[in-house]
Amino acid sequence: MRITSDEIRRLGETQSVEFKKSLSLQKEAFEALCSMINTNNAKGKVLFGVAPDNSICGIEPGNLDMAQKSLVQNIRNKFDPPIICSVEILECDDKSLILLQAERNPEVTYHEYDGKAYIREGSSNRQLSYEEKQQLLTRRNRDKHNGPWKCENCGSVVGILISMVITDQGVKKSYDCECGGQFWPI
Ligand SMILES: [Zn+2]
Repeated sequence: MRITSDEIRRLGETQSVEFKKSLSLQKEAFEALCSMINTNNAKGKVLFGVAPDNSICGIEPGNLDMAQKSLVQNIRNKFDPPIICSVEILECDDKSLILLQAERNPEVTYHEYDGKAYIREGSSNRQLSYEEKQQLLTRRNRDKHNGPWKCENCGSVVGILISMVITDQGVKKSYDCECGGQFWPI
């Protein structure tokens, strides 16, 4: 896939985008990815081969296949619970970039990378404190939450969820809104 330097400049580093100049910054890149998917927005992109000032340096020449494999291995081994992450090679001018893209499943409270949970504020990353993890557990574990609830799609608010669904784990509260959206704790 191709990407232009204009598109990269427009993207910029944000709450859901991180640039890493070099593949030697894998650890920092994955900490950033972990912190981005742990936000409410639940999405993250890391682009290797771009400096934080948006200049395109390209990744180190060498075996792109090997680099891709090592990234995939890191993703498989170090995230808990496991994440689904795409690893793509992009061409910009005559340079190669690697793009990682991941999302958090809303059922997952937070992901840890290498045993630590991170959260993003603006474009910087920090570790979650014990209290913050507890807060996320209450906010995001819907089965344990007493509401009130708000539909993420149409915005309707309810105090109590009354409909139930039968799942393979027995009868559970239903979080489905009639508009097709899902209710989440406010
Ligand atoms: Zn709704």
